[in-house]
Amino acid sequence: MSFFSEVKTHSIDVFELFMRFHRDTHENKLNLAIGVAYRDDSGLPWTLPVVRTAEQTVAEDENLDNEYLPVLGLEEFTTAATRWLLGSDSIAVVEKRAFGVQSISGANALRLGAEFLSQVLGKTVFYYSNPTWRSHELLFKNGGMAEARQYRYWSEKTKNLDFDGLLEDLESAPRGSVVILHACAQNPTGCDPTEDQWRRIAGVMREKGLFPFFDTALQGFASGDLVRDAFAVRLFERMGFELFCAQSFSKNLGLYNERVGNLVVVLNDPKLVDPVKSQFTLIVRGMYSNPPSHGARIASYILNNTNLYDKWQDNVLTMFTRMKEMRGSLRGALEQLGAPGDWSLITRQVGMACDTGLTESQCEVLIERHHIYVLKSGRFNICAVTSANVDLIAKAIYDVFT
Ligand code: PMP
Repeated sequence: MSFFSEVKTHSIDVFELFMRFHRDTHENKLNLAIGVAYRDDSGLPWTLPVVRTAEQTVAEDENLDNEYLPVLGLEEFTTAATRWLLGSDSIAVVEKRAFGVQSISGANALRLGAEFLSQVLGKTVFYYSNPTWRSHELLFKNGGMAEARQYRYWSEKTKNLDFDGLLEDLESAPRGSVVILHACAQNPTGCDPTEDQWRRIAGVMREKGLFPFFDTALQGFASGDLVRDAFAVRLFERMGFELFCAQSFSKNLGLYNERVGNLVVVLNDPKLVDPVKSQFTLIVRGMYSNPPSHGARIASYILNNTNLYDKWQDNVLTMFTRMKEMRGSLRGALEQLGAPGDWSLITRQVGMACDTGLTESQCEVLIERHHIYVLKSGRFNICAVTSANVDLIAKAIYDVFT
């Protein structure tokens, strides 16, 4: 009899698809559901040139050692990342009531924030968009949040933001609820509120006393501009909200496996900074003691060096442009073939996720007949599309309608 005989196997659909892809022996099989990671036009992972430069500098720096970092992380990184998100003219930055807690990338920033909020606020309801990134619910529940609720976000009918539904759900949320907001390039719909809609969301949240918890995992990928994509967070900060923002540098710096993240904390009183930091110190100590340094040093070096920062912006633009071009090529190829449907959805979306609007059974045909793997929601990563395979993908999609 094992201690673990009652452990059940949980079904995790992405892994099942992954295993199915591996078992498929067809020579031209194609996995479009490659997770949210960038690929270049040859279908390969891309190390940003600016990261290479920073890595070399870090490697050659004889003053660096492998001592433990402080519990809340590398201060030059958390300070620079916080200033970068909010802007140096941010009142919260100037008044020293904003700070960062280094995290094990974006996922752990969300978990740290959830843990803090549930410990400090007690029984808390949290809201996440329907649909959202699959880990939000798990991270917040494991972080101790009492109850998960969804707010409407996407209308399958209009293939657009369900803005009225979103506002209605926020208006009826209990006071003090925590609301997870994708700062830009919403995953998985690739559809963001307009600037005006953000103002209205902020208005409702202020009136109803809701706490904004931003998640910015794709900053730079919505507009190609690192700063423009901070619009929503900066708007809320300028309006005087207290807020959290989970920053991830996995995608925009391509530092996926280094796990570089920062939880930005904006308070309304600088006197609260020390007590709040002490609470986070206990949370981190009880979770992993202190964060790793290598990725944070690379990010810090780039964020604190104007020359490298400009190169980073260029590198982000390179990724953004490729994704945009592939969206255009796929849409163009589908329209040329006469595939039924409104393919403008593909070019209206931003970020990495691409929604084909295919039904679950059409996706199954795509897999069975063409060995092209997409999630059953019909979504896939636009980076899996290259100049070499775009026509093949379009033909296969066209075929599932026949
Ligand atoms: N938020 C969203 C919306 C994401 O899509 C992801 C990763 N795909 C993350 C957060 C966290 O990513 P990471 O932990 O790699 O920073």
